[in-house]
Amino acid sequence: MKKILFVSSEAHPLIKTGGLADVSGSLPKALAELSQDIHLIIPNYQTLNCQEEKRYLCSLRVNNCDVNILETRLPHTNVMVWLVDYAPFFDFAGNPYNDAKGNAWPNNAERFALFCRVAVEVAMDRANLNWKADVVHCNDWQAGLVPALLSLEEHRPATVFTIHNMAYQGLFPSNQFYSLNISRQLWNPNGLEFHHMLSLIKGGLVYSDRITTVSPTYALEIQTPDFGYGLEGLLRHRQDVLSGIMNGIDTDQWNPQTDPAIPQHYDAHHLEQKQANKIALQQRLSLPVNAKIPVFGLISRLVEQKGIDLILDCLPDMMGIPLQFVLLGSGNPSFEHRLQNFAHLYPDKMSVTLGYNEDLAHLIEAGSDIFLMPSRFEPCGLNQLYSQRYGTIPLVRQTGGLADSVEDALPESIAKGTATGISFHQASAGALLEAIKRAIVLFDHKDTWRYIQQNGMNKDFTWHNSAQQYLQLYNEI
Ligand code: ADP
Repeated sequence: MKKILFVSSEAHPLIKTGGLADVSGSLPKALAELSQDIHLIIPNYQTLNCQEEKRYLCSLRVNNCDVNILETRLPHTNVMVWLVDYAPFFDFAGNPYNDAKGNAWPNNAERFALFCRVAVEVAMDRANLNWKADVVHCNDWQAGLVPALLSLEEHRPATVFTIHNMAYQGLFPSNQFYSLNISRQLWNPNGLEFHHMLSLIKGGLVYSDRITTVSPTYALEIQTPDFGYGLEGLLRHRQDVLSGIMNGIDTDQWNPQTDPAIPQHYDAHHLEQKQANKIALQQRLSLPVNAKIPVFGLISRLVEQKGIDLILDCLPDMMGIPLQFVLLGSGNPSFEHRLQNFAHLYPDKMSVTLGYNEDLAHLIEAGSDIFLMPSRFEPCGLNQLYSQRYGTIPLVRQTGGLADSVEDALPESIAKGTATGISFHQASAGALLEAIKRAIVLFDHKDTWRYIQQNGMNKDFTWHNSAQQYLQLYNEI
């Protein structure tokens, strides 16, 4: 049994802004089910959705700050969570990283550096918790300083750093380095320095024993200039310790047989029952109720990464095709505005819901026929996995985790029984539109469609698989 400290800045259902929270909520649970002694450590944000009491454990002084460690349980699991409680940094309303306008909080470097220092004290058993980690598993730039600081320690635990998205690197002006009071040893171009800036992600990339990312294809892509954001050379240099492990999904939350957010449960043998969810979706969004028309769904942060600009370029053509399109998301105000304009122009064909809405997300997964993910890059992606589980055929661009988890419906893959979706290669509106047209043709071939739906529904996307791969990695180091 390994003692694992899992360091993350968010974990569902305590706090979530994106896919990192899904992983940090699910992987520790799956590792605990594999009998590992795992503790999650996250900041004690004011907005945490704690179901159990927070219990005070201890206090420690770190870099002149008096920090408390509280303990709670990750809801519906046996995983204990250590909360780093420092009110001046974490006890305020709102998003963990940004203000309401999307601007980063001005003291993010200080906030997450303190979080990392506390994680190091805990991992080294210097926090009076009587627990020393064998492995510290750090996630994204917010936890990047942990492997760097641990590299300065004797008898340190092994470290793993997981990249959930290379686009977010925790870059700060170089003078921040000095104000953070970090050992000068770490300040050089082979350390935390990146073109005269402080790069917190480099703490993970340079100093951890192993680097993982969330799909095998993305592990290759980030070693190229298009996806590496200037760190591709470092990643190529460390390719021997870099690998990709696909995320799983929480099959308790995303299960069409039990999902409390959908009106009609169904499974791969009763796909006709999925129709009731389509009707409920059309009713809820005031679209014409029509079981025959293909419904395309999309749930996403509305940012360029997700190919929202490709969707916008396709919309004039899409609106000329017999289909309905439902979109849920929030993000770039210009995308939001342009999407809403289309929805106003075509109220019978398109519905746009701005904001974050878990229940509607579940209904869209259950009620749509096709799920659109034309991402420019996608480290892993979750919605294409949820879609397959819900018999909703994903239409994806062949990149990252989308390439690893969706097999294009071509005559050969259909014959072999491995086709699970529709994919296209080029990041262009033309290629996306072609794929949409292919989907519509296929939708009319009811038997083939059902067969592809069932292929996806029968795939195993549980965390158990992924957790076993992580455990093997922990054992190797
Ligand atoms: P990323 O982490 O890049 O945003 P992922 O596909 O890995 O993308 O994970 C996004 C997660 O957030 C999924 O669970 C998705 O359903 C959810 N999500 C994104 N936007 C919304 C929204 N507006 N309402 C509800 N859920 C959303």
